[in-house]
Amino acid sequence: MADDRELPVDTVAADFSPAAPNRRAVTIAQMDWEELTVAVRECTACGLCASRTQTVFGVGDRLAVWLIIGEAPGADEDRLGEPFVGQAGKLLDNMLAAISLRRGENVYIANVLKCRPPANRNPEPAEVARCSPHLARQIGLIRPRLVVAMGRFAAQTLLGSDATIASLRGKVHRCQGVPLIVTYHPAYLLRNLPDKSKAWADLLFALRTLRGLKAG
Ligand code: URA
Repeated sequence: MADDRELPVDTVAADFSPAAPNRRAVTIAQMDWEELTVAVRECTACGLCASRTQTVFGVGDRLAVWLIIGEAPGADEDRLGEPFVGQAGKLLDNMLAAISLRRGENVYIANVLKCRPPANRNPEPAEVARCSPHLARQIGLIRPRLVVAMGRFAAQTLLGSDATIASLRGKVHRCQGVPLIVTYHPAYLLRNLPDKSKAWADLLFALRTLRGLKAG
């Protein structure tokens, strides 16, 4: 019978929360959903609070099996307060539909950063460090069966790695003890259509992984 020991599970269990968490991170790690929602909404821990329209907490089923993690809100998400609502979000919804999933049903969608970096620049390490306790707590509260890290930034942050997407794909990693697989970011796929077939392979791998976990 299949179980996750048959899958190429990385031997090093990754945990992207700080090795020596500060008092703020410890406080966040004990929050319930309501407290976490308020903490994110009122967060001024980094400079992104000055330029945001609003925070983008995350959306979906809090009992989800699937947790999808992207990078950071863009202009549309900053305006509407929901992750992945622009063009990349439409593609994400289509990718979910291809494996019979729908936003909000058994799926939770969040980003590493809860605020939009100005002009969609790359997140800075200090911003990630200040924001990551929020995502760590979301993972802790949801306890999904599978995390899908979309894009290099989410994958590298969650795995504490600087490895390429190409080398991280096709393996079952772990983040906070939860199996994690890596695929391309939908925004990247919009610019690199031939790689959609690789993303499809990743989704099938995710499904197989989940089935293996359930059978185990
Ligand atoms: N890209 C992301 O990584 N997240 C969003 O919410 C939107 C675009």
